Amino acid sequence: MFSIKKWRNGAKWTNWSGNYLSYPSQFYAPQSIEEVCSIVQEHTFSKRTIRVTGAAHSFSPVAMPEQSALTLHNLRGLIHVDKAAHTATFYAGTYLHEVGPILAEHGLALINMGDIQYQTLAGAISTGTHGTGITLGSFSSMVKRWGIVTGEGDYIEHERGPDALSEALHVSLGLIGILVTVSIHVMPLYSLEYTSERSDFQTEVNHFRQTIRENRNVEWFYFPGSDQIQVKKMKQVEPITQPKLQKMVDRTKLQIIENGAFFVASEICKWKPSLSIPVSKLCAIAVGQEQRTDISYEVYPSPRSVKFVETEYAIPVDQFEACIEEVNSVFARQQFDVHFPIECRTTAGETGYLSPTQEEESAFLAFHMYKGMDESSYFAWVHDMMRKYNGRPHWGKMNKYHRDNIESYYPNAVKFNEQRRIYDPHDIFLTSYFRNIFK
Ligand SMILES: Cc1cc2nc3c(=O)[nH]c(=O)nc-3n(C[C@H](O)[C@H](O)[C@H](O)COP(=O)(O)OP(=O)(O)OC[C@H]3O[C@@H](n4cnc5c(N)ncnc54)[C@H](O)[C@@H]3O)c2cc1C
Repeated sequence: MFSIKKWRNGAKWTNWSGNYLSYPSQFYAPQSIEEVCSIVQEHTFSKRTIRVTGAAHSFSPVAMPEQSALTLHNLRGLIHVDKAAHTATFYAGTYLHEVGPILAEHGLALINMGDIQYQTLAGAISTGTHGTGITLGSFSSMVKRWGIVTGEGDYIEHERGPDALSEALHVSLGLIGILVTVSIHVMPLYSLEYTSERSDFQTEVNHFRQTIRENRNVEWFYFPGSDQIQVKKMKQVEPITQPKLQKMVDRTKLQIIENGAFFVASEICKWKPSLSIPVSKLCAIAVGQEQRTDISYEVYPSPRSVKFVETEYAIPVDQFEACIEEVNSVFARQQFDVHFPIECRTTAGETGYLSPTQEEESAFLAFHMYKGMDESSYFAWVHDMMRKYNGRPHWGKMNKYHRDNIESYYPNAVKFNEQRRIYDPHDIFLTSYFRNIFK
């Protein structure tokens, strides 16, 4: 979780998994939009780079500041709700764990969420953070209007439309401007009936197309080398709140199994990597039948205290079965020492110059490695295999985007860069990572 105290002390910046670290010379925490504008104007004048960082929950260097770092921790909360239009306007620094309870007070809810809730709205929108559901889009797709401070220090608001700026803002990585306010589509408050169960790998692959159409949210955890798979499904129901005692019991169980026991298993694998596949198989067997119903924002996220690094790819949904079969056949030969399950989700297709879905219904496959274990050969194989399936990495996860290949992933990268140049003519948002892709 973000700490303003550490920020004020300002010696170093690091992301959640600790795989990126930097020493910016300035740390800013503005209190108003006017202050954001004047900080940006100073940087335009002095030609220093400045990067906004959200909750630093990206695994790639997208949020890594170099010369100056800025947080919107002091620009949080609800600005306005339009219940009839199902729209809510927030300061973009609001954390996702704050959004659910705020909306619930107005009888509203987010349309979808991913599996944690520590990120900021701005960070989630800027990288295309997604949950699961073939009819549902990412956080970027929820946006109706963006309020940004451009690279020249002007505050402008832009309504989504079929125009170049909207396409660039959809997944903008903080390169078009600093997102300070955001209006998002929301829906009436709802609960989710959640089930988790162990199933057979081949049965799930055979029924994949049917399962994703029959369930609002469905996600699979494939355990490397195991023929057992965990399936999580969520069904939308009328608002019901889970009794407090039951909630406490469920949370404690989750904390013990998904974090405590898994931490011990992970330490064993770090100590002796060759045990990874047997540990993975054991974890698959440990998956039990679980069921609960609660308000949606209490059900989507899970605690994630075991640290890891991650790479995640979107592929056309029609290629999912072939892809996961290939993954399974490689693990049948036990090629990599990895015990973390591979998380498989789906989303609707989205426009946006830098959206990894590129307008196609997509399957997302996320590959993890326990912090401290060597991910290099595993992730290199993942990268080559996913390219065969036209995979595009999630911007917030480890990737190999570079100026030499960016147009092969995104034919509209040139158009994105045109917008970037218009709104950040002095390149003040361009850190080295982005310079290697867009300059
Ligand atoms: C444990 C864990 C679980 C995760 N689960 C999911 C998941 O379920 N689904 C998923 O899709 N992703 C997931 N992610 C990835 C994560 O959601 C994204 O990387 C997200 O961007 C992180 O948000 P953040 O607020 O931490 O932003 P940061 O990582 O700090 O920043 C992300 C990007 O947004 C930019 N940015 C931040 N604030 C602003 C602003 N105000 N204006 C303009 N640009 C800004 C930054 O400069 C950077 O380019 C997970 C990450 C972790 C560590």
